[in-house]
Amino acid sequence: MEYQKILDTIHDEMSYRDVSGKVASYIPELAKVDRRKFGMHVYCGDNQHFNFGESKEKFSIQSISKVFTLAMGMRLMGEDLWDRVDVEPSGDPFNSLTQLEYESGIPRNPFINAGALVISDILVDQLKDPKQELLDFVREITGDDDIHYDKTVAASEQATGYRNVALVNYIKALGNIKCDVQPIVDFYFHQCSLAMSCEQLSKAFMLFANRGRLLETDKKILKPKTVKRINALMQTCGFYDEAGEFSFQVGLPGKSGVGGGIVAIHPENYSVAVWSPILNEKGNSELGMKALERLTTLTGVSVF
Ligand code: GLU
Repeated sequence: MEYQKILDTIHDEMSYRDVSGKVASYIPELAKVDRRKFGMHVYCGDNQHFNFGESKEKFSIQSISKVFTLAMGMRLMGEDLWDRVDVEPSGDPFNSLTQLEYESGIPRNPFINAGALVISDILVDQLKDPKQELLDFVREITGDDDIHYDKTVAASEQATGYRNVALVNYIKALGNIKCDVQPIVDFYFHQCSLAMSCEQLSKAFMLFANRGRLLETDKKILKPKTVKRINALMQTCGFYDEAGEFSFQVGLPGKSGVGGGIVAIHPENYSVAVWSPILNEKGNSELGMKALERLTTLTGVSVF
């Protein structure tokens, strides 16, 4: 497959793009980002990789981090994790407080904020230094130590994150949070602030395209069954309330974040990350979705 040629075609097709749309603005740091940024990186199972644009520039991965923390939560709890979080698409916005009361504080899935905050509770409860262990995990699966939290983004989330604090309090009142509220939200705001490039993200997500094993060493990090579950959740719940549209357009499991990043995988085949900060009205990268639609159309490779 001539991936580089296909990526160059996508880049050319989108070179005269409209850059007038909105970027995330709920914290000043994300609003400052240059809206013209556009990069894409494909990592293949045979260790070859291809890219265009700003694929080596780091950006705020935001909700993409929810896949990493879910993987860590499953390593700690296995299938018992599903007593704390459900696996159904929510059809509501990512930061919704609805549906919790009727379900005893069990969030609909681990990729809405409510679910990710319950996973944060599990990691804060069971790990000695959860922030360091998350960094260690992401660095190990990426094979790159140059991955850090963006302290300014984390502090800004902390200063404005009333809704997330409310969610933890509410779920705690319903009995599905064990730890104190502050360490949970502190961990959550840090995970959202992780800064990574498309190159690093596509490499990290090869874990989910490669049955839970590292590409170079074949070291087993996750059980194949865990990877199956995480990929299924990315397919059904990875794109806020636009998971159906993403499946329809692109046909790959993936996860997006409000920083404008999207990562998607094709099991056994490749992992791809794309970044363009302009968001559509559902909060997904507008150009990122279009670029991925072109990728699966031009390669003829999707899961469907
Ligand atoms: N830090 C954001 C929040 O929790 C994450 C947004 C996202 O990428 O979905 O509100």
